[in-house]
Amino acid sequence: MLALRLTRFEHLVDLNHVSELSSVERDNGTLVVGAMARQCSIERNEVAQAVPLLTRAIPLIGHFQIRNRGTVGGSIAHADPAGELPAIALALDAEMEIASSGGTRRVEARDFFAGTWTTTIEPDELLVAIRFPVWSGRCGFAIDEVARRMGDFALTGVGCGVELDDAGAVRRAAISLLGMGPTPLRADAAEAALVGTTPVAADLSAAAELAVRDLDPPVDVHASAAYRTSVGAHVVERALSSALEEARGG
Ligand SMILES: Cc1cc2nc3c(=O)[nH]c(=O)nc-3n(C[C@H](O)[C@H](O)[C@H](O)COP(=O)(O)OP(=O)(O)OC[C@H]3O[C@@H](n4cnc5c(N)ncnc54)[C@H](O)[C@@H]3O)c2cc1C
Repeated sequence: MLALRLTRFEHLVDLNHVSELSSVERDNGTLVVGAMARQCSIERNEVAQAVPLLTRAIPLIGHFQIRNRGTVGGSIAHADPAGELPAIALALDAEMEIASSGGTRRVEARDFFAGTWTTTIEPDELLVAIRFPVWSGRCGFAIDEVARRMGDFALTGVGCGVELDDAGAVRRAAISLLGMGPTPLRADAAEAALVGTTPVAADLSAAAELAVRDLDPPVDVHASAAYRTSVGAHVVERALSSALEEARGG
């Protein structure tokens, strides 16, 4: 933001030496990632493997130099609508732990992303941790995207998770789109269409169309809205197929 002269400020608060913000811990059914945990530290972190969508999203973020310095909390607080981690947080119904001198509060991802580069963190507050629910049972996950070059921000993309019940039907589906609007977006209608179907019977093409229906994707020098919608649907279909395949085998 600074390099592009998109922002300027008078004071900088450096969190680099606040070591308690970098922990990665399991709290029963939740993975608690400190806001200052480096993106690179998550990818192969043993505890973080409990949330496969998170660890699989990391290699898609920029280049390794970016991931070496970039933090999980910085990415989520920055709230780029094409960012991988905001989309993953939304797909998994993560909770943001936010602190101020007045105490702490938790905000669900659905209520956290307010617009492009905008969140509901108040000026006197700090994001201290992101709480990712750990899915158990027969689950599958996938993150997929299309970018002009490896490491570029995605033009369109999706993170998704599915869980099958004992009979092999979809019990739960979570789909979050990136690069398709001012914030990451949940595809509620597509999720609802998948619940109750089986991986074999599910009409993934129809679910993907539902996911991108009625969206108003951004238009820029890289892609038109129509391109993002068309390619976005294919990416959703591909990711759902991969997640369902994993759930069937796992
Ligand atoms: C060349 C380049 C390529 C990139 N490519 C991608 C990509 O492909 N995908 C992707 O998702 N991201 C990408 N990024 C973004 C990158 O991954 C980081 O998320 C981003 O640069 C933020 O870095 P940071 O963690 O150091 O946070 P900072 O730059 O320190 O902070 C970012 C913003 O969040 C606020 N903030 C940071 N931490 C907190 C906190 N704990 N509480 C409250 N507010 C906070 C800051 O005030 C600032 O507004 C790219 C960045 C660069 C420079």
